[in-house]
Order: sequence, then C-alpha cells, then structure tokens
Amino acid sequence: MSKLLIIGAGSVGSVVTHKCADVPEVFSDIMLASRTLSKCKKIASQIKKQKIRTAQVDADKSTQVVKLIRSFKPAMVLNVALPYQDLAIMDACLKTNVHYLDTANYEPPDKAKFEYKWQWAYRSRFKKAGLMALLGCGFDPGVTNIFTKYALKHYFDEIHYLDIVDCNAGDHGKSFATNFNPEINIREITQRGKYWENGKWVETDPLSVHKPVSYPGIGPKESYLLFHEELESIVKNFPTLKRARFWMTFSQNYITHLRVLENVGITGIKPIKYEGKNIVPLKFLKALLPDPSSLGEGYTGKTSIGCYIRGIKNGEEKTIYIYNNCDHAEVYKECYAQAISYTTGVPAMIGAMMMLTGKWSGKGVFNTEEMDPDPFMEKLNIYGLPWNVVENPKVGFGE
Ligand code: NDP
Repeated sequence: MSKLLIIGAGSVGSVVTHKCADVPEVFSDIMLASRTLSKCKKIASQIKKQKIRTAQVDADKSTQVVKLIRSFKPAMVLNVALPYQDLAIMDACLKTNVHYLDTANYEPPDKAKFEYKWQWAYRSRFKKAGLMALLGCGFDPGVTNIFTKYALKHYFDEIHYLDIVDCNAGDHGKSFATNFNPEINIREITQRGKYWENGKWVETDPLSVHKPVSYPGIGPKESYLLFHEELESIVKNFPTLKRARFWMTFSQNYITHLRVLENVGITGIKPIKYEGKNIVPLKFLKALLPDPSSLGEGYTGKTSIGCYIRGIKNGEEKTIYIYNNCDHAEVYKECYAQAISYTTGVPAMIGAMMMLTGKWSGKGVFNTEEMDPDPFMEKLNIYGLPWNVVENPKVGFGE
C-alpha cells in the first residue's frame, strides 16, 4: 500500500490514473498533479474506484515539485508530463528522497534532440541517495526493451539483429492529428533517421528509408525508419547486437500533411516575431491540432507493436517476433483513451507497481531492460496488453 504522485494530466496521465486506481492494494492513495488543475479534476471525476487527489504544479520549477512532494509524501513520482520536465522532477525526487519513473527521455526545449546522457548523469546521485529512477517505461521505449530482454532470457544464447516495428492501423477520422503530444511527436519524426550497424550509428535523411511490413491481424503497412530513444540504451545493454533499427507506420495522408507543414515552416522550434510577440511556430501548431486525449471517441482499428529478433540458440540461427495488438475502441470503453495513450500508460502503471512491490529494485538510474522481464510480462497479460511470441515467423519483416 503506497502513495503515488502522478505528474501530467494529459492523454497518458489519464490512462495511468485510471489504471492505478484499479489496483488499490498497491496504489492506496493517488494524487494527480499538473499545470492545469481543471484537467486533473476532470480525470479524477471519471474514476469511481477510489478518490483521486488533485493539485496544480508547474513541474518546470523544481521547488514547486519539492513543495508538493513534502506535503503529500508519496513513495514515488510517476512523471507523464513532457520530456522538458524530466530533470526538474528528478532533482525534486533527490531533494525529497522519493523514487522516480518516466516514459520519455529529457530533451531541451530549444533543441530537438533527445538523448539519455542528461538523465544517465544522475546515476551516482540516485545511487548515493539509495533511490531508484526508472527511465522510459512506456511501450516504446519501455515494453520494446523488455520484449528484447525477455527474448534473450528465454529464446536465445545471443541476439544479433533487432527490428522494432510500430504500427498504428487506426482511424480517428480527423484530417491530421498526432496520437501523443503534437510538439514532442513532430520534433521526433522530423529528425534525421539513425540506426545501429556493426558498432556504429548510420544516419539517414528523415523518413527516406521505408518498406512494407506485415503486421499480425492487420496486414502490410508502409513502415519508415526512424531514430527512437530505446535504441540508445538497447545497443549499450545488448552489446552482441550487430544491427538495431526502429520502424513506424505513417499513412500517405499523414506524410503529405507533415511535408506541407514543414515546407511552410510551422514545425520550426526557433521563436519568430509575430505582431510584436515572440512565438514558437510548432507550439502555435500544437494549439491548432486536436488534443491527443480527445481522439479516443470513435477511434477504430488497432495498434500493433513488436520486436523481430534474430540470434543464436544452441548454435542454430532463429528468429522470433514478440508483439502486442491493442484495439482503440476497446480501450475507449475501458478508460476513455485511445490505444497510443493506453499502450504508454499501462506499462508506466506496471513499472510503478514493480517498484512499489519490490519486484524491481535498485539504487541508481535504470532503463527497463536492466530489470527482470518476467514479472512485468506477466502483468502485461493481466492489465490489458496481452502479448504473443511467434517463432520463426513466415511473414513479417523479412530482410
Ligand atoms: P499531453 O500533451 O497530452 O500531456 C502532457 C501533460 O503534461 C499535460 O497535461 C500538460 O499540462 C502537462 N504539463 C506540461 N508541462 C507541464 C509543466 N511544466 N508542469 C506540469 N505539467 C505540465 O502528452 P501525452 O500524455 O500524450 O504524453 C505524455 C508523455 O508521454 C510525453 O512525455 C510523451 O513523450 C510520453 N510518451 C511516451 C510514449 C512511450 O511509449 N514511451 C508514447 C507516447 C507518449 P497542460 O494540460 O497544462 O498542457
């Protein structure tokens, strides 16, 4: 029985709060805090299983987070605000002696670059304080790292090739929308592509490498090579990998909208002067686009995210595909969410559960693949994200 402080009342924060409230034997007292108090209150009012406390906090300001932690006294903070707040919240956890978990690594607001180096630099401070910080515990990163670890533990002696494939075959009925925070999503997608091969990173032009990948229960979908944050920790923690890549599906409609938006300059992050005011074009675009938490109603179709892993077992080469499919309409019925927020929020809840029940512990800063995958994988099946393993799949990724 523990107190949990959730920061961030967006689309992922809503799922996390709903799912944690369903497990009062672990999360006995929950506070949801965010920049806009009314959003916390709206989520709290949807939850009947237990009373959710709410609070206003600007998590860019570490002192405000410290104050809130000191008054509520949680055992840990689950951060599902934006990557910009990661360091301020980690600082607050260190000051107040509480554990930390997030789903996306830090990126500086003025540079579209995400990297673990800023958060890994906190390792010795968390270790010295006897605290645990778990980074990137959503689906990708998060579950994809754990799938890889599970595959190595149960199916291989050594793994050599990894392809993470992420498909959203859903239809939200809007002309253009992003499934999680538009600003973070567009910053990620417009970056140069990057993958790991033979001990070094290989760069590609944005969205220039693509091919059809066949997804179970969905069929072939054009999938684009991207740099995604879990690749950074995975190549470090699985040094036998000869190649590691990440692929994501986009519809032609999405790509066309994105190209036009880029061409007119509205995805830029450098402030421009407009009628005497400084505005960041991408922040302005975010204000125009649908809020990801509003997409759930009427969303149809499925997501399918998994890992193709090739390696050696008893001297023989083999491949496995391990994946989850998640249905947008089903998760809306359960907690007013769409599948992208659901597949992020459920692993974050399970990660917190692992930490609070002592199934996962450690002193320092960790990525999810550094933990034992088994208890987490068991909970995925129980809490709404069942997974499958296909050995030597006949269709799928190919070369
Ligand atoms: P949203 O934009 O829907 O929600 C973000 C929330 O954080 C909003 O409620 C926002 O408040 C709040 N927030 C922003 N700044 C502050 C601040 N300074 N202080 C307090 N609260 C703040 O985003 P999502 O829910 O879609 O995404 C949440 C996180 O999940 C992101 O970091 C995203 O990158 C990550 N993610 C991870 C995935 C994974 O698989 N690992 C996949 C998808 C997302 P306000 O309402 O006032 O704007």
